[in-house]
Amino acid sequence: MITVIGGGPAGRFAASYLAGTGEKVRIIEKSGNLGGQCLKYGCMVTCGLNDAARNLNHLAKLQKLHVLNGADPQISLPNLWKELGAIQDTIFKVLDNEADLAGIEVINGEVTLSGRDIYLNGSLLPQGDGDRILIATGSYPIIPQIKGIELNGVHNPHTLQSMKAVPKNLLIIGGGVIAAEYAYIFSQFGSNVTMACRSAFLRDKPERLIKCARKEIPAVSIREYTLVEELKSADGQESKGFVASAVLKSGGNREEIPCDAVIIASGLRPRTENIKGIALDDAGAVIVDDSYRTNVDGVYAAGDVTGKVFLTPYARMQGIAAAKSILGEKVPRIPEYIPQSVKLFYEHTFCNMDSKSDTGNSVREFSLPAQAGPGWIWWVSDRYTGISSIRVDADSGIVKGIHLSSPSSGTVGAYMAYLMEKSLNVKDFETFLEVHPSTDGLYMLVKYGDTLLTKETK
Ligand SMILES: Cc1cc2nc3c(=O)[nH]c(=O)nc-3n(C[C@H](O)[C@H](O)[C@H](O)COP(=O)(O)OP(=O)(O)OC[C@H]3O[C@@H](n4cnc5c(N)ncnc54)[C@H](O)[C@@H]3O)c2cc1C
Repeated sequence: MITVIGGGPAGRFAASYLAGTGEKVRIIEKSGNLGGQCLKYGCMVTCGLNDAARNLNHLAKLQKLHVLNGADPQISLPNLWKELGAIQDTIFKVLDNEADLAGIEVINGEVTLSGRDIYLNGSLLPQGDGDRILIATGSYPIIPQIKGIELNGVHNPHTLQSMKAVPKNLLIIGGGVIAAEYAYIFSQFGSNVTMACRSAFLRDKPERLIKCARKEIPAVSIREYTLVEELKSADGQESKGFVASAVLKSGGNREEIPCDAVIIASGLRPRTENIKGIALDDAGAVIVDDSYRTNVDGVYAAGDVTGKVFLTPYARMQGIAAAKSILGEKVPRIPEYIPQSVKLFYEHTFCNMDSKSDTGNSVREFSLPAQAGPGWIWWVSDRYTGISSIRVDADSGIVKGIHLSSPSSGTVGAYMAYLMEKSLNVKDFETFLEVHPSTDGLYMLVKYGDTLLTKETK
């Protein structure tokens, strides 16, 4: 028997692979549903909110141009949560059905692991000698230690769905991808949004991406290098009242701003509070070797709980790789090129655009405005067309990095990352035909990259 602790992307993909080979597998999940953070609080929720926000953005533009006439539509947050909840329920059922068809036993309950001993809701589960365990308990939001953080109206991604109305003044604590995504969503919903970023906004992301992202949240007040010192309620109660203001500190300056809601988006932390007797690193992540083995024989770990990259596709891939390791099969290498997106009005996808990874000085960066096409034809008059950038090794023509800000760059970016893993060369796209119209200019740029490199060497 193989016990998988946690039914998120890592646990589900591992269990499906194992069950497919005829192994007896059970998933123990504490939340009552399979799908993990991705479905319950993360990717799918942000996706539902972003779709609503982008539609409002499109409508506002068409109204401004008098292509559409009529009253301004308003967001009903209670109805949004209700409809999104119904969609989540549908997907939960699909996942249950998938597990059932695969022959995976699903047990609802909370595990405490002590070395190799599994306690289910406090009771020791009997195990056989050859039984193995996969820890896939994922992660949870980091809650910063701030006075007043317990006040009503202070949310994090796991509690956001209890927000009852669109806030008038929203404070977002964080300056990363998830924080930027919430800032776009709620600014489109009509909130005055302030972001308190401990360091730089979208730190370490490609420069052009940050420029595009800022254009899409023009009304958001982005406070960089700013700490939230205190959250206050109107009646001075620290835990029971409703949040009414926040004290921000930047350098030596303090400012109190009004806020009737706060969203904490300060990152994720591996969930290991119930994992005992297994070696953890300083960040609380389970330490694994290249074969996903922990320090305890027969116990493996995969996904966010290993503290590597907090992304669903990565967790899924690790889950399958760990399953292969459990079966004694060859363990696949996780790719070097990992594509990621920031989803605002456009999707801003990037992979390996960090010039710090360059060796030598032969890498060149080229960029082109994206082409007119579906998703932004009405924005041409604003001269906001999105952008494509590539980094190319001038000696070999090998593409080292990509960035694409366009309405649906995620798919293109993922394929490009895959091709980069296979040493994509600018010459490879000579005979590539794209679908037209499309806003994704990366293919053009790769073709053009060859011309630019040739020009440079003449
Ligand atoms: C707001 C937000 C937005 C995100 N957006 C994206 C995105 O756009 N794209 C992307 O790729 N990723 C995104 N992510 C990250 C993505 O959700 C995670 O990387 C992914 O869900 C990790 O999968 P996992 O299986 O490792 O862990 P999880 O999804 O965290 O699943 C772990 C599961 O284990 C269960 N569990 C935990 N402890 C126990 C226990 N002791 N006993 C039993 N069960 C237990 C939990 O209930 C949970 O269901 C986002 C995350 C958040 C919070």
